[in-house]
Amino acid sequence: MNKELRIYRGSVLHFTGDPGVDDKAIRWHEDGLLAVADGRIAAAGDYDVLRRSLPPDAPEHDHRGRIIMPGFIDTHIHYPQTDIIASPAPGLLPWLETYTFPAERKFDDPQHAREVAAFFLDELMRCGTTTALVYCTVHPSSVDAFFMESESRNLRMAAGKIMMDRNCPDFLQDTAEAGAQDCEQLIQRWHKRGRQLYAITPRFAPTSTPLQLQLAGELARAHPDTFVQTHVAENTDEVAWMKALYPDSRSYLDVYDQYGLMRERAMYAHCIWLDDMDRNRMAETGSAAALCPTSNLVLGSGLFDFAAADAAGMPLSVATDVGGGTSFSMLQTMNALYKVARMGGTHLPASRLFYMATLGNARSMRLDGTIGSFVPGAEADFILLDPKATPLLARRTAQVDNLEELLFALAILGDDRAIAATFIAGEAAHLRAANP
Ligand SMILES: [Zn+2]
Repeated sequence: MNKELRIYRGSVLHFTGDPGVDDKAIRWHEDGLLAVADGRIAAAGDYDVLRRSLPPDAPEHDHRGRIIMPGFIDTHIHYPQTDIIASPAPGLLPWLETYTFPAERKFDDPQHAREVAAFFLDELMRCGTTTALVYCTVHPSSVDAFFMESESRNLRMAAGKIMMDRNCPDFLQDTAEAGAQDCEQLIQRWHKRGRQLYAITPRFAPTSTPLQLQLAGELARAHPDTFVQTHVAENTDEVAWMKALYPDSRSYLDVYDQYGLMRERAMYAHCIWLDDMDRNRMAETGSAAALCPTSNLVLGSGLFDFAAADAAGMPLSVATDVGGGTSFSMLQTMNALYKVARMGGTHLPASRLFYMATLGNARSMRLDGTIGSFVPGAEADFILLDPKATPLLARRTAQVDNLEELLFALAILGDDRAIAATFIAGEAAHLRAANP
């Protein structure tokens, strides 16, 4: 770790709150400066004002023309599905049977797991995603492989072993007791080791017995600073299946609630087919929705209801859901999220999209202050965005009149090519080739 102060000059963007609620929450310094020391943020602000207060001999990197902003955070992604991204299927359940389960079977081989984890993390770096909440497979060794690869790169990642003890192929099935014991050992081995964090990960209620969900809930209570992650109310066929399996529950979400799986740091992917009681329960418990628009569109799962979620005050986050999702890029994911919201009558400002992918997602994971913004002392995971990354982006962004137009163009037209560089704890982890 480099202890010396380093200065990065460029346009600096970060958030102190949700610009959808407070338009003063946007921090934009067109000629800005980010100062980093010892892997952490030292200062961020206007170049003219801040430069004078910093040592004159501090090394300075000139990135004028680029946007320096916190790295993106992805709150729902499956690393074992990297190789089946963009697989055709008529809906969620056939997609699981045809592609997902056979791909996950291969993760009983730790070498395969390590190789895929390495590619997956490289791809996140290329897309400017510096933290993700990640599903592994049912195999504990798939979690070890992922965290070893993440730790070797000093990444702040959260991940967990899938718990799945019914309604799945034998080769991917654990048991309630053995699955919970494996999780306990993985928590002891990896949670808060360096920058690694553990997530208790029942795949979804249909593939867990009541006993498995009960044991997952006990783990969630015993380790309140771990994450809980699962899927809920993604698709109408799945909701109907769940109702047959848990006939006494008021709703799909209520199954998780009954087993103590709703709390802060609990991340629920999709949340499309919720009702108002569910939404209120999300808000009351501090559980967060992980919206996965590219996945929801390609699998035809449904359109997330922004207006109802905002009315209930539900914590929201945005995620790719690769491999159901069709892109690792959070810019491409913002593009899809904008359209999903628009179809439901909500106009999401681009500033809110960028907030969600950074500080908003950090808040949903209770990691604000650690990642997602340039508050002094935060971990220095940041990216350089290039508004001229492609000929079309260069042409469009040359015409913008304000920050909102610039960010909207990047969200709609941008992808991995717009990420000029990714820095992890102050060190370069990805530098885009000069001519992508
Ligand atoms: Zn998923």
